[in-house]
Amino acid sequence: MPNAIQLLPKHVANQIAAGEVVQRPSSIVKELLENAIDAAATNIQLVVKESGKTLVQVIDNGIGMSPVDAELCFERHATSKISSAQDLFSLTTKGFRGEALASIAAIAHVELKTRRDQDELGTLLKIEGNKISSKDLISVSKGTSIAVKNLFYNIPARRSFLKSNNVELRHVIEEFYRTALIHTEVHFLMYHNGKELFNLPASNFRQRIVNIFGNKTNTRLVPVSEHTEIISVDGFVGKPEYARKSRGEQFFFVNKRFIKSPYLHHAVCAAFDGLLPPKAFPSYYLNLTVNPNTIDINIHPTKTEIKFEDEHTIYAVLRAAIKHSLGQFSITPTLDFDRDKNLDTPYQYNSKSVRMPSIDTDPNFNPFASTTSTTKNISKKISASDWEGLYVGLDSKGNDNKNKYSSLRLESDPISEVLFDEEQVSNKYKTFQIQNKYIVNTIKSGMVIIHQNRAHQRILYEDFLKKITLKKGGSQKLLFTVDLDFNKAEINTLKSIQDQLEHSGFVFDNFAKEKLTVSALPVGVEGDNVQAIFRQIIYDIDSDLPDTHFSTSDLLAKSFANSLSINSGKTLNSKEQEFLVNSLFACKEPMLSPFNKKVYITMDLDEIDNKFN
Ligand code: ADP
Ligand code: MG
Repeated sequence: MPNAIQLLPKHVANQIAAGEVVQRPSSIVKELLENAIDAAATNIQLVVKESGKTLVQVIDNGIGMSPVDAELCFERHATSKISSAQDLFSLTTKGFRGEALASIAAIAHVELKTRRDQDELGTLLKIEGNKISSKDLISVSKGTSIAVKNLFYNIPARRSFLKSNNVELRHVIEEFYRTALIHTEVHFLMYHNGKELFNLPASNFRQRIVNIFGNKTNTRLVPVSEHTEIISVDGFVGKPEYARKSRGEQFFFVNKRFIKSPYLHHAVCAAFDGLLPPKAFPSYYLNLTVNPNTIDINIHPTKTEIKFEDEHTIYAVLRAAIKHSLGQFSITPTLDFDRDKNLDTPYQYNSKSVRMPSIDTDPNFNPFASTTSTTKNISKKISASDWEGLYVGLDSKGNDNKNKYSSLRLESDPISEVLFDEEQVSNKYKTFQIQNKYIVNTIKSGMVIIHQNRAHQRILYEDFLKKITLKKGGSQKLLFTVDLDFNKAEINTLKSIQDQLEHSGFVFDNFAKEKLTVSALPVGVEGDNVQAIFRQIIYDIDSDLPDTHFSTSDLLAKSFANSLSINSGKTLNSKEQEFLVNSLFACKEPMLSPFNKKVYITMDLDEIDNKFN
C-alpha cells in the first residue's frame, strides 16, 4: 500500500494559510498599509473599489524593491524585516511574518509595480492563480504600488461570506483609521469608487484626529501625557460629556501599532469612573510607548493583541494619567469653559514616576483647627487677608498655568477686579451657607452650590496625596507624645505603610509590637483623633489590600480625607466658606469627591430665569 501522507501542493498550502491572514477586504488594506509604513513612505494612497471586493490598491513612495525582491516577496516566510528568532523580541516594524503577500497572492489577482531610488527602471509583476503570469521592466516613480483585484475569485465559498458593501466599507475605513491616525508624519489619501474620502496631510496627532473625525472633535479632546521609566502615554481622551452610547472612537496604539486590549480599556473606563452617563463609552486615542523587549506581539495571527511584561503597572499608570488629565483640564462643560489654549500643546509632567494630583495651597493654613487643641502648630499660619497666598504655585507659573485651574470662573476671579471699585472688590467673596450643609457662590453663568463635606474631602485628599507622594508633609509637634494601643496584626498593617505615614507628616518615636508612640502629627490632624484615624486606616487597608505603592498612597489619602473632613451640619463662618470654595477650585478634580460623589452643582441664569416663568 502506498504511504498516506503527502505534502500539500504549494498553492493549496498558501490558500489555507491565507484563511488566517485574509478574512475580508479590510485585512488586505491592513497588510498593504503596514508594508508601506515599514517601507518608510511619506505619502500613501489607498484606492478601493466596491468596498475592496474588486480592488484594494496601495501606492506608496517608500524604499521600493529590487527586481529580485519583487519576485521573492510573494514567497511564504519571505521577509526583509527579521532574520532570527531573537529579532522577534525587539520588533520595530509592523510586519515580520513574511506571509501576507504570499497569502494575498493565493486568493486574488495581484499587480505589483515597484522601483528603488537607485534603479533606473522598475519592475511590473502580475500574479494570477498564485503564479507569476508576467514580468516586465517599466518606467515608474520611486516606491511601490500593489493592486489586489477580485478577492477570493478562486474560493467562491469565501466570497459569498463577505458582507454587504456598506459593512465591508466600514471595516476598510476602520482599518484605514488604525494606520492613518497614528502615522501622522505620513500624508494619506483614500479613494472609494473614484471619490476622495480622506485627504490627510502630515500633521500632529491632534490635527490628524480632527482631520479624520471632524472639526467638532477639536474642542472635545483632553490631552494625556505621562512619562515613566516603564511606559509613556501620549494622546487624547474625549471629554466625558461627549461619550457615546455605542463603542466608537477607541484607539490604543502600542509603539504605534494598533492593538485591542480589554484590560487597558478597563483602565481607561476606571479613570472615567463617575464622570460618564450610564452606558456611555469614552473615546480615546492613546499611544503607549514601551521598550519593544517588554512586549510580545506574536500571540495572534492578525496581531491586534499583544502581551505586556508588566501589565499591572501599565494599568495603573494609564489610569492615573487619564484621571490626572481629566482633573487638570477641569472637565466642566456646563460652566464657563473657555477653551484652554494649553490644550494645543499637551503639557509635560516634570517627574518620571507616576505622579499624583497636586494642589498648591498653603498646607499650614487650617481654618478648621480648634483653638483648644492639644497640638501646637509650629508652622506659620497665613493671615486671612493673604488669600492670594492660596494660589502660590499657580501665580508663579504665570497666567497660562493659572488658566488651567480657572475654567470655572468665580466672580471673585481677579480678571473682573478692574471692573469694580474698592468697595465692590472687598465684597467679592460673598458666599452663603445653607442648612449647614451647602455653600452657595455666584459664578459668571449663574451660581454654584457646593456640598461642604465632599468639597473638603476633595481638598484634603489632593493635599495628602501630594504630601505622601512628594514626601513633603508638614508636621506639627505634640507637646506630649501620644501612646496608641493596637494588636500585633494592626501594628503590622501600620508598619507596612510606615513610610507613607511619615511622608504625610506623622513622626513615630516608637513602633513596638503592640504600642505606637507618636510625637508629631500632620498639620490639620488633632491629637484626640489620632487613634480613630489609625483605626480607620487599618480598616481601609485591610479591607482593600492595595497591590501597588500608588494605590496605597491613594487609599491613605482617601482615608485621611474621610476622617478629617468637616461634616454636614457644621456651621462655617465666612472665612471658612471662602477657604473651602477657593481651595476646592484650586484642586485638580474639583467636580468629584475622592469617593466619586458630585461635589457641586451649577445653575445657569437661564435655568433660574425659567423657574420664574
Ligand atoms: P512582512 O511584512 O511580514 O515582511 P509581507 O508578505 O507583507 O511580509 O512582505 C514581504 C516583504 O516584501 C517585506 O518584508 C518587504 O521586504 C517587501 N515589501 C512588501 N511591501 C513592500 C512595500 N510597499 N515597499 C517595499 N517593500 C515591500
Ligand atoms: Mg507585511
